[in-house]
Amino acid sequence: MRSDNFRKVVPYTPGAQPRFAEMIKLNTNENPYPPAPGVLEAARKFDAGILRLYSPIDGGNLQTELAKYHGVDRNQVFIGVGSDDVLSVIFQACFNSGEEVLFPEISYSFYEVWADLYRLNSRKVPLRDDFTINPDDYLVPNGGVVIANPNAPTSIALSSGDVEKIIKGNPDRIVVIDEAYIDFGGESVLPLVDKYDNLVVVRTYSKSRSMAGLRIGYAISTPEIIKAINDVKYSINSYTMNFPSECMGVESLKDEAYFRSTIAKIVATRGRLVTELKRLGFTVLDSSANFVFASSDRKPAKEIFKELEERHIFVRYFNKPGIDNFLRITVGTDEQIDKLIEALEEIL
Ligand SMILES: *Cc1c(COP(=O)(O)O)cnc(C)c1O
Repeated sequence: MRSDNFRKVVPYTPGAQPRFAEMIKLNTNENPYPPAPGVLEAARKFDAGILRLYSPIDGGNLQTELAKYHGVDRNQVFIGVGSDDVLSVIFQACFNSGEEVLFPEISYSFYEVWADLYRLNSRKVPLRDDFTINPDDYLVPNGGVVIANPNAPTSIALSSGDVEKIIKGNPDRIVVIDEAYIDFGGESVLPLVDKYDNLVVVRTYSKSRSMAGLRIGYAISTPEIIKAINDVKYSINSYTMNFPSECMGVESLKDEAYFRSTIAKIVATRGRLVTELKRLGFTVLDSSANFVFASSDRKPAKEIFKELEERHIFVRYFNKPGIDNFLRITVGTDEQIDKLIEALEEIL
């Protein structure tokens, strides 16, 4: 058979999901704390009999409750199977002009994978030398803009004023702000959805809501943009939202106190982690996320990564120019961080 049958793409490389009984997993920015008690209870009580039926196409109660939670209308919410699904549909629905879609050169590497997969014209915009985003770089003719805020893997947040500058400066194009980590720091631009008609804010349950395995992500925007996203989504697969996600997704929203308390714990542990890494001679970028991005000149990051891996401590290493001497380390529990620091003391 001929090889030209196949579409050749370079896929996104997800973080490894090792399964050792004893391991410290700080490589995919998962939350170290369990989902809210109400979510666990709803999982126990879930009536699997309902799975006979197709699930609600719009997300059902989850769409209603997310709209209430964020103070927007129901038709301003699009729900997908993780924000990867949401972003993937947005790339297909919102960047149709043929002009260059812009995103930072160092950012969530899925953006360039989708741009290539959907054959979009795109351009990667370099960061400043200090790894920050210069908003002025996005005030040029383009076919749309995608920014992760806080950015990944740098962990650095852009002020909401700077994000607004990008939104305001592109009135004819759609600006997508991926706020996967916004609950851990930084300022959300969600309140600007009603002020501008070109803004899409993307959120996920995977990090701050401790529910990566359930796969819930959503976008909030204008009814017009949400309709365009839905039209594409319904052209691919209508029933992607499933009953367990609808049920447990709603439960998570009910427990604001638990949500705030796990975030506060992670932010406190992040402070400790940064202090300890600096004590060991690391340069650590200013994190507003549930991970830190750190580099040491005592030993190449790749070697540190391997030596940690031998001890079943997993962090993320990107073999990519400009960041190939950095490690991305998820903020785990205090106990996990203590063990990481002990291991690093031995390694360095
Ligand atoms: C983790 C992450 C996502 C995807 O999360 P889902 O689990 O698919 O919701 C999207 N964007 C960024 C920047 C992320 O780090």
